[in-house]
Amino acid sequence: MATFRFYEELNDFLPAQRRRQEFDAPCARGATAKHMIEALGVPHTEVELILVNGESVGFDRLLLEGDRVAVYPKFESFDVSTLLRVRDSPLRVTRFVADAHLGGLAKRLRMAGFDTLYDNAFGDNEIVAIARREARIVLSRDRELLKCREVTHGCYVRALEPWQQLREIFQRLDLANVARPFTLCLRCNAPLRAIDKQLVLERLPPSVREHQQRFSTCDVCQRIFWAGSHWRHMRDLLDSLP
Ligand SMILES: [Zn+2]
Repeated sequence: MATFRFYEELNDFLPAQRRRQEFDAPCARGATAKHMIEALGVPHTEVELILVNGESVGFDRLLLEGDRVAVYPKFESFDVSTLLRVRDSPLRVTRFVADAHLGGLAKRLRMAGFDTLYDNAFGDNEIVAIARREARIVLSRDRELLKCREVTHGCYVRALEPWQQLREIFQRLDLANVARPFTLCLRCNAPLRAIDKQLVLERLPPSVREHQQRFSTCDVCQRIFWAGSHWRHMRDLLDSLP
């Protein structure tokens, strides 16, 4: 038997009677901290720090009778640099693979300039394989997917509305300052390039022809993009983040 306490949003994964309080749970012989945390419902990708009896430990720490285990998500306002975190530093390049339910988020991440693979035909195994092969962060609302051993970096997405989801991911991963809005095609995930207005004039709706001056295009799908309402929404979101 060990005593557990989960902090902050990790409580979302627990049944109501276990939230925000200590509770006891039996541990199998040889169970690691990671195994027990996931058995209690929390994907390892959501965990940033584990303290056992007040000392920071890694995922592979074996739990013993009477251990007191405190489990924390990424901190917003608390310096943990002196404590051991459960995984190495963030992936060097921030890029994503999104599960089949997150098409709206995937488009918005691309709109913000983050390389994001998404195809609603991707199965779980494919997502895990892509994440591993290309060092991508898995975005999912499926906690079982995030419990996969091979997934080293992942984010459980709580919000349901795509702009809210984008805000959530930006806050969790501190992305506001590294965003490069409107550099990727939101449909193809391919780079956009600027194109002269004269070259696309005939393909523009009249009001766009009148009001917009700057355009870009995707060489894969040939679509034309301009600073419309999505642009304003993205700017507002970025401006509202620290
Ligand atoms: Zn495209």
